[in-house]
Amino acid sequence: MLFSRASDETAPVRPGGRDTHMIEAAKGTRDILPAEIARWQLVEARARETFALFGFREIRTPIFEATELFARGIGEGTDIVAKEMYTFQDRKGRSLTLRPENTAPVARAYIQHQMHRGSDVERLYYIGPMFRYERPQKGRTRQFHQIGVEAIGSDNPAIDAETLQMLMLFLERLKIPSLTLQLGSAGDETCRPAYRQALVAELTPHRASLCDDCRRRLETNPLRCLDCKVPADQALMAQVTPIFDHLCAACREHLGAVRAHLDRLGVRHVLAPRLVRGLDYYRRTTFEVTQPALGAQSALLGGGRYDGLVQELGGPPVAGFGFAIGQDRLVLCLPPDLEGFEDRLDVVVAPLGGSALGPALSAASRLRLSGKRVVLDPLPEKSLKSQMRRAHDLQARFVLILGEEEVKNGTFTLKRMADGEQRRGPDPDLLRTLSEMSHD
Ligand SMILES: [Zn+2]
Ligand SMILES: [Zn+2]
Repeated sequence: MLFSRASDETAPVRPGGRDTHMIEAAKGTRDILPAEIARWQLVEARARETFALFGFREIRTPIFEATELFARGIGEGTDIVAKEMYTFQDRKGRSLTLRPENTAPVARAYIQHQMHRGSDVERLYYIGPMFRYERPQKGRTRQFHQIGVEAIGSDNPAIDAETLQMLMLFLERLKIPSLTLQLGSAGDETCRPAYRQALVAELTPHRASLCDDCRRRLETNPLRCLDCKVPADQALMAQVTPIFDHLCAACREHLGAVRAHLDRLGVRHVLAPRLVRGLDYYRRTTFEVTQPALGAQSALLGGGRYDGLVQELGGPPVAGFGFAIGQDRLVLCLPPDLEGFEDRLDVVVAPLGGSALGPALSAASRLRLSGKRVVLDPLPEKSLKSQMRRAHDLQARFVLILGEEEVKNGTFTLKRMADGEQRRGPDPDLLRTLSEMSHD
């Protein structure tokens, strides 16, 4: 087996003629570079802090699952399952799919680990990449990232209200301006079938003018027409009878209770009478958080209640409520001056001349062990000028200059980048001098 890898190689290596063309990231994917990573990490840190306040704990499920999980959990008629999944066979012929969303995998894990035995309400969140084969466009990639939450085990409207409060608190802490919580209902098994019929009857006369997707949805999943992004269809959908007119008494009561709890918690919201969301498993509460600045596709995120999903996947008849936020978009919405994503370096150590490298390594080590962020480029042949330019590019606060003279005398020169202020001192005073210069 040791050599099996080599025997798999089919392309012969041409002597002296290796193919060295540049390989780029696969279409629809992108690198998140170090210059932007601090904003990603900040979003994740705020999510973890805020969700912990409400007793939510992280779950990490695999990136791929059995294809059947998504076919059953999301619904065969949805765009996701019909045309957007990355599905492949492994070496034993099993059909696997890169997760296009994570509610079904979390529900699968909930069932598999019998979490319903452990607690009445299981509060879970996840952070990670999802995969959908969509036409790449600005702000939309085939590998994208979601922060999501699932509260499984109760259909009490208090769960909806508390989870929505948590969501809005999270977004508030990220200082994202002018957000609106739109609250809707997808009905339930009592009232949704009648609405579905009424919607089909209302849309059928317009069939010829609908987009291709909506004509297909009219057969497979007519409620999904309400989410259409094509402007002409959107105008039509804004006119159709809202599901609010068809809600049964139990659904109306549930919606009323969610609203009353939100009011009690001080969470502002508006009603969205046609917000049903297309996924088959939604039941009763649906919502979106919109921001006018995002334009036509103004929804920053959405979610809702999915009371039938766990049972559909072979688990106990428990209810769930959750949401997923597109992290890529969320990061773009952050205000530029948001505090909290500090990733600046404290010190660049600049050794000048070969004899300075050893002392520079020792100084860098002392600084790091006292908690400072330090970079040392071992390029003693570089000029002071080019070391300063490097420090500027790295946005370091200080440069520690160790030239031949400093090394000979056992001293240092510390330069503050903000104003060029420079101080010298004997080696043992380094940490104290840095601390003084940081605070005055
Ligand atoms: Zn359409
Ligand atoms: Zn109902």
